[in-house]
Amino acid sequence: MTTLEQRLAEVRHRILQACEAAGRDPASVGLLAVSKLQPAQAVRQAWQAGQLAFGENYVQEALDKMAELADLRGATEWHLIGPLQSNKTRAVAEAFDWVHSVDRLKIAQRLSDQRPAQLPPLNVCLQVNISGEASKSGLPPHELAQVAAAVATLPRLRLRGLMSIPEPAQGLQAQQAPHRALRLLLQDLNQRGLALDTLSMGMSDDLEAAVAEGSTMVRVGTALFGARPPGAA
Ligand SMILES: *Cc1c(COP(=O)(O)O)cnc(C)c1O
Repeated sequence: MTTLEQRLAEVRHRILQACEAAGRDPASVGLLAVSKLQPAQAVRQAWQAGQLAFGENYVQEALDKMAELADLRGATEWHLIGPLQSNKTRAVAEAFDWVHSVDRLKIAQRLSDQRPAQLPPLNVCLQVNISGEASKSGLPPHELAQVAAAVATLPRLRLRGLMSIPEPAQGLQAQQAPHRALRLLLQDLNQRGLALDTLSMGMSDDLEAAVAEGSTMVRVGTALFGARPPGAA
């Protein structure tokens, strides 16, 4: 039987090899363990194996898990990677360290307004609809520069970079194309005067392609925790 500890080691090894292939420093690629629909106990096990950053998609599920893991609060980092509705921004501003899925200025404004004064600024990424699928959330690339400039001025947020969930593709070449597009968008924003340091891209099936294109944070669920419960997103 493969344990979580072994799978964590395997994923770290994949990241290491991808960094070697790309001539990148392995320290420049963070691993976000996507624990959506996994029990708090799985998060605790991953933490015991040395994993500190966890990604969640559903706000209430994440809050419940954080409450169950309250003893680890200062020693873990929580990232919201799923869609965020206006009525949940306060809870998110109060409980999370990062939000990767900001796709509207209004959501960013609410998060900034609602971020408690005693906490450091909330780290945010703008989610970009890089594959142009009508059904997927994320900013269309042509709106990005304007929204990024506005978000960067919000006092209680720290705009860190960009996130995307490309359409699934087979093969390294095909997988690299959308990741390259996101990297070029980040480069463009930095040329316009922003100082963004985060490319949140790459999942279980395409992390090598993402690292090859400059990912600084891969978001890995299935390869770490195994298949999610049936019926789950
Ligand atoms: C579920 C999810 C992941 C992890 O996907 P896996 O294929 O299980 O690694 C990464 N990012 C987002 C936004 C997700 O919703």
